[in-house]
Amino acid sequence: MKVMMQQTVEVTSHVLCDVCGRNTSDGKTSEFGTLKADWGYSSAHDGASYEVHLCEVCFFSALATLKEQRRAHTLFSDDNLDSAIEFGRVIAE
Ligand SMILES: [Zn+2]
Repeated sequence: MKVMMQQTVEVTSHVLCDVCGRNTSDGKTSEFGTLKADWGYSSAHDGASYEVHLCEVCFFSALATLKEQRRAHTLFSDDNLDSAIEFGRVIAE
């Protein structure tokens, strides 16, 4: 026999961008990117966890910064990373 009761459950109502504070929800869905890390024992940040939510504008701004850093790191390298590959993209638009 099931004994029923009502409970209050927390749900995410909307996601705000951690950089600019913009609401990433249009009322039906949220469109945002997530920068996430859980650092383990062998890292300098052992036990630290991060989760940063980014609106579309801030996500692509951060991605552009990372792409530029990658370009700077590989500028004089013989390891020619293929620039035709979209940095970080796993599914084409
Ligand atoms: Zn933002």
